[in-house]
Amino acid sequence: MEPIPQQALSDSHPPVLEEVARLAGLPEVRAAFGRFRAQESQFAQWQMEATRVAAPPFGEAARGLWLAERFRELGLLDVQVDEVGNVFGIRPGHGSRYVALSAHIDTVFPAATPLHIRQQGSRLYGPGVADNGAGIAAMLAVASALARARIAHSLPFLFIGNVGEEGEGDLRGMRHVFATPRWRDAIAYSVIVDGAGTDTVVAEALGSRRFEVIVRGPGGHSWSDFGAPNPIIALARAIEVLSQTPVPASPKTTFNVGVIRGGTSVNSIPESASMRVDLRSTSMAEIDRLERMLRLGLEQAVALENRAAAQHENRRPPQPPSRMLQSEVLEIGNRPAGELAADARLLKVIRAVDAQLGNNAQVQRASTDANIPLSLGREAIAIGGGGSGGGAHTLQEWFDCDGRGLGLRRILLTLLALSGVGE
Ligand SMILES: [Zn+2]
Repeated sequence: MEPIPQQALSDSHPPVLEEVARLAGLPEVRAAFGRFRAQESQFAQWQMEATRVAAPPFGEAARGLWLAERFRELGLLDVQVDEVGNVFGIRPGHGSRYVALSAHIDTVFPAATPLHIRQQGSRLYGPGVADNGAGIAAMLAVASALARARIAHSLPFLFIGNVGEEGEGDLRGMRHVFATPRWRDAIAYSVIVDGAGTDTVVAEALGSRRFEVIVRGPGGHSWSDFGAPNPIIALARAIEVLSQTPVPASPKTTFNVGVIRGGTSVNSIPESASMRVDLRSTSMAEIDRLERMLRLGLEQAVALENRAAAQHENRRPPQPPSRMLQSEVLEIGNRPAGELAADARLLKVIRAVDAQLGNNAQVQRASTDANIPLSLGREAIAIGGGGSGGGAHTLQEWFDCDGRGLGLRRILLTLLALSGVGE
């Protein structure tokens, strides 16, 4: 066996800090930074225009078309919209693997929400203006700077405006990207821009699984049918079992019963009862364990209530199985967990970029579009689009453009370091 040459053991890339410093000093990169300052009013315009196009969950098509038009204007190639509504555009380079920059285009707001988007000084107001108007604007700003500054980057860039990040969307847009053969293995790195700010790096994906649990029975009159099995009582017992399930502090694991429904009137045995349950953990194994406890507790609770009803009915004519409780567990959400390896190149790059820009950022754990690539073992982070914002998911949402430049320089340097720019 031959000894492994020393060189093969070291990183073939130049030390990341030096490389980022070199990139930041290149005249064409400095020119791009200058454009970020000069074009701020254009970015705010794009942000407001995008946010004025309604994009409720499962209704993002109009905003997607708006974005595809901007991609074409900015000279991106092969602009297309896929079958779920994701919008793609390519800035070519050399090599077959892409550095992807994405922003989700959907909002939490139902279609009828008035989108009164307005500007006062450096502040923009209106639902969705930061989440994810800021991400969309950042993606367009970077595409614009790359087009004008003529930076000769190596790996090609793939721009994605994806659907389905929020709530019931359940990451369907990003899930579809990573289920599509053309993209699945071709995306080397994913940089996801979600919301405002520069103070976080989401490199750990919080997993969650959500269920609608339904118990159905024959129902009846509270007096004359007394003894018939009661779905609300069975559900209450199932909740009791779930609530007694121990969960570890590390890996942090939580459960919640967030919605409970059932019954028609105080003097009726209900025909159905349901609850919505949210299980979360940084560990998929813990989520699996909680799911098993939820199902087991429910089975036991239904069996206990059916047994009690059968015993009661021994004193009456025998009843058919339709007089028993049935339960159903529907999965209504599933976000896989995962995290970036401590020695991942993307983590080294974003840390070096933050050091270069004098930016202080904390690595965080959250549920974002990055869950999908991270759960597949791919390198991905979610970061903000600069500026500042607040009131996300409310009608009072706002974004302040001051400080957007830092966020844009951060994104651009990260992309260029990942792609490589020749000496
Ligand atoms: Zn968002």
